[in-house]
Amino acid sequence: MSWFSSVELGPPIEVFQLTKQFQEDDFPQKVNLGVGAYRTDEGKPWVLPVVRAAEKTLANDDTLNKEYLPVLGLDLFSSLSTKMLLGNDSAAVTENRAFGVQTLSGTGALRVGAEFLATYLGRTVFYYSKPTWENHRLIFLNAGFKEAKEYRYWHEEKHGLDIEGLLEDLNNAPEGAVIILHACAHNPTGCDPTQEQWGQIAKVIREKKLFPFFDSAYQGFASGDLDKDAWAVRSFVNQGFELFCAQSYAKNFGLYNERTGNLSIVLNNAAHIPAVKSQITWTVRGMYSNPPSHGARIVAHVLNSKDLFEQWRGNIQTMSSRIIEMRKRLREELETLRTPGNWNHITEQIGMFSYTGLNQSQSQHMVKKHHVYMLKSGRISMCGITPNNVKYVAASIYETLT
Ligand code: PMP
Repeated sequence: MSWFSSVELGPPIEVFQLTKQFQEDDFPQKVNLGVGAYRTDEGKPWVLPVVRAAEKTLANDDTLNKEYLPVLGLDLFSSLSTKMLLGNDSAAVTENRAFGVQTLSGTGALRVGAEFLATYLGRTVFYYSKPTWENHRLIFLNAGFKEAKEYRYWHEEKHGLDIEGLLEDLNNAPEGAVIILHACAHNPTGCDPTQEQWGQIAKVIREKKLFPFFDSAYQGFASGDLDKDAWAVRSFVNQGFELFCAQSYAKNFGLYNERTGNLSIVLNNAAHIPAVKSQITWTVRGMYSNPPSHGARIVAHVLNSKDLFEQWRGNIQTMSSRIIEMRKRLREELETLRTPGNWNHITEQIGMFSYTGLNQSQSQHMVKKHHVYMLKSGRISMCGITPNNVKYVAASIYETLT
């Protein structure tokens, strides 16, 4: 007899399964376009030079030790993170209406925020874009939300945003529903609302008394400019919204595995901060007690130095411009081959991912026949494309579609 004999095998997580298949494949020209991590022109992972420099300095700092951080993490880290998101001159910052909580990367920020909203504000319904990052649903349900709903986002025929569908779905949302919004570089479509469309979204959220929960996993990665990529969040804050924003340093600092993130919380009244902070402390205490220090110290060290901050911006430029260049190259190659269809969306989309428009069977054909690993949804990570494999990827798409 075993207590565990009734446990059935769970479904695989597509993106991790794909990486494993890729690693086991010995085809020389194989390409991994599944994983959401930056690669150099040589297809190698990259530790940002500014991160290496910070690590060396911190390693030589004998005043640092391994003792517990407070439950809400490193203060310097979370306050600088919130300022980076909102801008130093944001009214929410100067009026002390905003604060941060250090979390286990972006996922942890979403989970802590969701659990707080479910526990202390009694929220039960949340909305996510169709499609979205596959983890949103699970995180919110595990945090205590009862009802997962989708709002329309991607328009299949237009290869772009379905703004009418989006607004209609939010218009029909019940009062108090939590709306997950991608701050920039929407995953998986690479397609963001325009500033005007953000204005329309904000209007519905205000009128219908919904709660905006931004997910900012790619600040700096979309346009190469930290301020530009924070525009949507800042515009909501400037309009007086109370909101949560989950920030991840996985992509823009390359700290994937260090689990470095922040939950920024903006209220309209500073008097509510002590109570909210104290209850979030209990949310975190019962979940993992306190966060790890390594990544947070690196980020705080960099954000706190004018010189290192500039270096970091340079590193972000390197990453985002390589991606933009690869988008150009891929589109050129597809057009040179006269691949059926229109490929404007490859360069119009931004950030790490692109929704190619390939359907499920075409995407699986790419994997099986060409050893080009991509998600069934047709999503590719632009980071996996390099000057050495772009022709091969384009030729594989061409063969698949002809
Ligand atoms: N949100 C979105 C939209 C993402 O794409 C990701 C990373 N894949 C995350 C949140 C969180 O990632 P992490 O927990 O590694 O910061």
